[in-house]
Parts: sequence; C-alpha cells; structure tokens
Amino acid sequence: MKSTIAGLLTGLMIMSSTMAFAQTVYATKNGKKYHQAECSLISKKNPVAISMEEATSRNLTPCSKCFKQAETGETKNK
Ligand SMILES: [Zn+2]
Repeated sequence: MKSTIAGLLTGLMIMSSTMAFAQTVYATKNGKKYHQAECSLISKKNPVAISMEEATSRNLTPCSKCFKQAETGETKNK
C-alpha cells in the first residue's frame, strides 16, 4: 500500500511540473486540439507527444476538458 501512495504522489508531482512548464502536449493525428497526457478524450486515440511550440505552429487549440482544469488557478488574473 505504501508504494501505491508513493506512486500517486510521484504522479501528482509529475502532473504539476508538466502543467508548470507545459512543454509537451498530446495530439491525435487528425485532431484540432492538443491535450494533456492524462486526458481521457485521447487515451484511446493513439496520442502523439508534441511540443507546445509544434502544437501552436499547427494552429491547434487547447482541449477544453483537460486544460480547463489546469487553468482554474490562473483565472483570477483576468
Ligand atoms: Zn483533452
């Protein structure tokens, strides 16, 4: 059980660091949006890891499902 908890904590740390840097996102072959790794919308669609730069250059827009969660802490600045 301890290892499960440690695994969860590690996962949270990886998630938060991914959100903080936001350098790698995931896109599907014909998708118009990019996603976070854990997004359920792409988990069955062979997501490909790309850089945020590449996603922007392809005119992909952030997925409203998985990026909405990441933005909730930042909306105060608006
Ligand atoms: Zn998504």
